[in-house]
Amino acid sequence: MHELSIIQSVVDTVRESARSHGFIRVNKVKLVVGKLTMALPDSLQFAFEALAVDEMFKDAALEIEEKELCCLCTCCQSRFQVNDDYNFICPQCGQGQVDVITGRELYIDYFEGDEG
Ligand SMILES: [Zn+2]
Repeated sequence: MHELSIIQSVVDTVRESARSHGFIRVNKVKLVVGKLTMALPDSLQFAFEALAVDEMFKDAALEIEEKELCCLCTCCQSRFQVNDDYNFICPQCGQGQVDVITGRELYIDYFEGDEG
């Protein structure tokens, strides 16, 4: 499952960073996830609850910000949002030559915790 491996690496990264900053507990993790990653927020939450169970993450909450999938047409320069049908054809001019502007994001925005 895609989401499990994403969360595993998020938890590992946060734990390492928290330790090096002297945190004993993590209360909140904010994750930014683009639609093109195909990671489902519900599954990410589920994976977080399953994996973030040790002392440091006991009461931690996961907040997810989803980024819409937006493209820029390289022919007519119009911007458009791609919906769940993943139709990457420009609605203005009908070309399929597009750049993805947002939607590929997958990163930890920040985390909060208590220092020891
Ligand atoms: Zn176009």
